[in-house]
Amino acid sequence: MNNIPMLDLKAEYALLKDEIEPAVCAALAACQYIGGPNVKAFEAEAAAYAGAGHAIACASGTDALLIALRAIGLGPGDEVITTPFTFVATASTVVMCGAKPVFVDIDPRTFNLDLAQVEAAITPATRAIVPVHIFGQPVQLAPLKALCAKHGLKLIEDAAQSFGADYAGRKSGAYGDIGCTSFYPSKNLSAFGDGGLMLTDDDRLAAEMRVLASHGSRVRYHHHVLGYNSRLDEIQAVILRVKLKRLDHFNERRIAIANSYNVQLAGLVETPFADGHGRHVYHQYTILSDQRDAIQKVLTESGIACAVYYPVPLHRQEMFAATHGDVKLPVTERVAQRCLSLPISPMLKDEQIRHIVGAIRQALA
Ligand SMILES: *Cc1c(COP(=O)(O)O)cnc(C)c1O
Repeated sequence: MNNIPMLDLKAEYALLKDEIEPAVCAALAACQYIGGPNVKAFEAEAAAYAGAGHAIACASGTDALLIALRAIGLGPGDEVITTPFTFVATASTVVMCGAKPVFVDIDPRTFNLDLAQVEAAITPATRAIVPVHIFGQPVQLAPLKALCAKHGLKLIEDAAQSFGADYAGRKSGAYGDIGCTSFYPSKNLSAFGDGGLMLTDDDRLAAEMRVLASHGSRVRYHHHVLGYNSRLDEIQAVILRVKLKRLDHFNERRIAIANSYNVQLAGLVETPFADGHGRHVYHQYTILSDQRDAIQKVLTESGIACAVYYPVPLHRQEMFAATHGDVKLPVTERVAQRCLSLPISPMLKDEQIRHIVGAIRQALA
């Protein structure tokens, strides 16, 4: 069998090229590379899809988080409660605002924030909670929203891995005060480069985020606040419009693949736990095993890609050593030692799944 990648972008491209290539060529010929009609149309389509009042496109998921945090007025002396088991941008953007991330340990089954530990981490300096729907599984947002209401905090969803997931009848990213997502090529809805999006129902926050993403300018060449040059370009918007129409279909296929893995891997490893509070869209399919390193070795030798997301929790990162060096989060640390993400892609074939499971069985024999 041929090598199996984590995510089969080539197969996806082959499937979509007849639609994407003429649309990209039309945008090239139209020459409106910045602020063009496809960006506006994509924002409208993404807002309608997510059921949010406003969708504001920007240059990356990292920028979406940074701009959202700036829009709520985050600054020096403030604290933000978030998870240590995520990509670095969830917390680095807090530091970029001059504020401090406060890491709360995770639930050992969902890998999402342990809701029972969040309230104890709230201090007079806390301004926001930033849950991450890790690997595509929605965090239970209702209890977090209640905590935010009780303590006067903002709820900002990091939905970079969960676009298209559902929770309480709403799309991921459309439940909190602001939802941020990423169109990095590996994400469930992905561009052919970088891109990001902020969702909100709040007119004032939406206006503020547009200003921040556009050099802090409300009126052209008049700059009210320190802003950024953060734009989605026209070509990426064209590609995202084509792919947004396929997102639900692709997410359904990810769920079917995860269900197939679950059946075939039962008893061999700890398969992902879906808590049933929302629709998990399996950005990653992540198993736990005490034999993680042995499995990883055999898969790699067999030409099957696999990855440890994340080997170093954020409170253990060198960049946080000075501020968080004494933080101990035992559940996160143990998950980081035992987790392994297997190939998952809407394009993964049933015989490839069987081949991957066979290699895992061999590793454990
Ligand atoms: C990918 C990702 C980001 C950052 O998105 P970029 O578009 O790469 O800047 C932020 N948070 C999480 C959880 C991510 O997975």
